[in-house]
Amino acid sequence: MNEYFPLLIPFLDSYIVLAQTDSTMLEMNRITRHLKKGNGGDESQRSGKHILAVQAITQTQGLGRKDNKWISPPGGLWLSLQYSHECFVPSFSLYIGHCLHKALLGLFPALRDRLAIKWTNDLMLQDRKLCGILIRHSETPEGDHLYQTGIGLNLNNPIDFSLMPYQAVSLGEEIGFPLDISYFAYVILMEIFQNVSLLTKQEEYISYCNEYLYAKNRRVRIVADNTSETGVLLGINVNGSLCLECGAPGKEIWSGTLSLC
Ligand code: ATP
Repeated sequence: MNEYFPLLIPFLDSYIVLAQTDSTMLEMNRITRHLKKGNGGDESQRSGKHILAVQAITQTQGLGRKDNKWISPPGGLWLSLQYSHECFVPSFSLYIGHCLHKALLGLFPALRDRLAIKWTNDLMLQDRKLCGILIRHSETPEGDHLYQTGIGLNLNNPIDFSLMPYQAVSLGEEIGFPLDISYFAYVILMEIFQNVSLLTKQEEYISYCNEYLYAKNRRVRIVADNTSETGVLLGINVNGSLCLECGAPGKEIWSGTLSLC
């Protein structure tokens, strides 16, 4: 029996569920290219304004940042979403992180003290990684900003030998009962679309991220390309950069991978 069903989300133009694919993000790109070439579809599909989501039961080459791989066995929520917005939003990944956090807390309020947003793009349960978020941005010829969001959420997939080295955690294992993946997809997508007006008020969701910020007031290291900064994490600035106390108070960091020292 296939537990998945087409989701009734009014904001979405298409929702595609696959048993297996290499990566939902790559699949979404292939579908978009296909439609843009004029292979079927209506005007919105060809213009790239089509709001599309692709979910897979398993991914064979799930993507992380740069060359990172996202391990995606059956049981997790592996979902990509394509959404076009009229202006550039530098902190888009924090917007998505805040939506995911709110959606999960809405379902499990008891997680409040343990579920945290890791700048810029993960959700942590205690000190373990529950969810990864991958954002890709591009500009369309019409001047719109296309945001592709990949969400990898460990729901029912057990933390076996393949995930153990990454200090991953699975929500179902943590809660103690299996979770309905389709329902989580629904709740998360609704949270993202219902809050879209906040994209013009980034101080609101950044203040939310600061409230639930992972490693706040702890000593962290941020590694980006060939540079590394160490210091006490003070918070996220209103522009989305990270505020780190390292010698000079309040140094702004724009990108990098954060780890505890
Ligand atoms: P950053 O903080 O910069 O995003 P990252 O190390 O968290 O860096 P990502 O690209 O977000 O990197 O995620 C990919 C990484 O997450 C992998 O390199 C691996 O360490 C870990 N990982 C892979 N699959 C999973 C999973 N299912 N659950 C938790 N962690 C995973």
